Amino acid sequence: MRPGRPNPRAPTAPTEPATTYEATPMTAPSSPRLKITYATLRNDNEELHRLFEAGIEKARAQLGKHYSNHINGQPQHGEGEFEDRSPIDDSLLLGHFAKGTRQDAKDAIAAARAAFPGWSGTPWQERVVLLRKAADLISERQMELGALMAMEVGKNRLEALGDVEETADLIRYYCDQFEAHDGFDHRMGNLGDDAVHTRSVLKPHGVWAVISPFNFPFALSGGPAGGALVAGNTVVFKPSSDAPLLGIKLYEILAEAGLPNGVFNYVAGPGETVGSELQENDDIDGIVFTGSFEVGFELYKSFARDYPRPVIVEMGGKNPTIVSRKADLEEAAEGVMRAAFGFGGQKCSANSRVYVERPVHDEFVKLLADKTRQIKLGDPLGRENWLGPIINRKAMARYENAVGEAKREGQVVVGGERVTDGELGKGHFVAPTVVTGLPPSHRLFRDELFVPFVAVAPVDSIDEAIELSNDSPYGLTAGFYSEDQEEVQRFLDRIEAGVVYVNRRAGATTGAWPGIQPFGGWKASGSTGKAGGGLYYVQQFLREQSQTVVD
Ligand code: NAD
Repeated sequence: MRPGRPNPRAPTAPTEPATTYEATPMTAPSSPRLKITYATLRNDNEELHRLFEAGIEKARAQLGKHYSNHINGQPQHGEGEFEDRSPIDDSLLLGHFAKGTRQDAKDAIAAARAAFPGWSGTPWQERVVLLRKAADLISERQMELGALMAMEVGKNRLEALGDVEETADLIRYYCDQFEAHDGFDHRMGNLGDDAVHTRSVLKPHGVWAVISPFNFPFALSGGPAGGALVAGNTVVFKPSSDAPLLGIKLYEILAEAGLPNGVFNYVAGPGETVGSELQENDDIDGIVFTGSFEVGFELYKSFARDYPRPVIVEMGGKNPTIVSRKADLEEAAEGVMRAAFGFGGQKCSANSRVYVERPVHDEFVKLLADKTRQIKLGDPLGRENWLGPIINRKAMARYENAVGEAKREGQVVVGGERVTDGELGKGHFVAPTVVTGLPPSHRLFRDELFVPFVAVAPVDSIDEAIELSNDSPYGLTAGFYSEDQEEVQRFLDRIEAGVVYVNRRAGATTGAWPGIQPFGGWKASGSTGKAGGGLYYVQQFLREQSQTVVD
């Protein structure tokens, strides 16, 4: 135990969690609200659940509609439609979405290009006003949007509400940055001749493509789009085909906030057509992609053609946690359980491998297994359920393959099966799984699985654990548990990851928040070394012009 710290709390059942509801003095649009972040541990607030129930009702009233793409502020129909069904229950049809084509993507790019002079010529202060309005609309509709997200991707209540509010806060943060830097227009020095005036001005590039993943369907759409837009770029946005509904909601809110036609265009459709057009079209000036390494790295390599253009790719992770023999094991087990299984391991920051010093390995595994058994799996719309389904059949197949390998080559300590009890048989529910007994070189310690599956291995030293942690192409997040300050410093000095946490009960590797924990990956996890929700992010949507004018 660290001196001066209270005793670890009694094990917190994930179903009756313990929270840090923080009031939101700076962001509340009209009345004081609760801010739900990913580090919010408890869900025992009656008011919150009353509001969420009302959000579910509003959300249900919107299901089953037909949605167009939106180009230059006008609906455009695409080539037929695709259905968006809930992973909770395959018979729950969320909506029919126009299937965008290459031509739709081309039209959207042309619309964005036409809108660029007007938008980039709008004073940045006016852009900030519109984007802050969008952020406030998002916060006002947090419950309804959270309910739709729970239905669309299977997040539990707090995770869904966190994703919605993070979107608003990312947009606000980029607006804050613009204000703090006076619109990124600064006077420079001279060499003694006062007749020479030089300014450094950051200017937008033009048209950006925003391509987003299914797992943070709002925050990783609205966040990057918000950065591009406040900087004066126009946007063509392609949501994940697993989450087009939250995408259209973002479009509707930006339109309602008053963005002019053509500034933000929405084209849903397959990566192979709409996505490919966005990466191949010469009229795209920059691209911001969040998703898998496989897609993101190809995009990164192919995007430069006649000359370099900015490309921000945020990709996968295989995030390690290290548990020292000097750790508070209960705290470590809680943090790992939350980070490995929160949203079914489908966060890029999910903890999927754990290296534990040998003397405490068995005790740690027992604590982790106990906490995992307490997880309440079920319909994530229900207040009592902490863990919902995984996104689709492909994810279930990945889970089943991993479990099969673990059973053959190691031990499955807990979990390891599909869950089909009662209504759960209608969705993609799998048991959170802890495995041991695999060599650290095993592919289950190397490949991103993106399912609720964590592998644990003993190590002989912290140095060995750090080496194993770094022996991965990925470098997104990492966690460490130790009461020894020297060990903590060694970890901080040597770990190769963009986001690191020490002794964090709320999540060993997960739960960043804009303006608090900048979020971005190293190595195969990200291309720029600049993190979302951080000090250097929004500048990536701008290019510097040095302007010297002599009297
Ligand atoms: P994905 O790569 O399958 O899809 C991401 C987006 O790319 C989707 O909109 C998809 O339609 C589109 N796409 C697919 N093929 C394309 C192509 N050829 N050209 C252009 N676009 C194409 O990823 P996913 O399954 O939606 O999301 C999960 C992945 O995202 C995981 O690997 C996760 O680690 C990663 N992720 C990373 C971060 C981060 O910040 N580093 C955050 C969230 C998710």
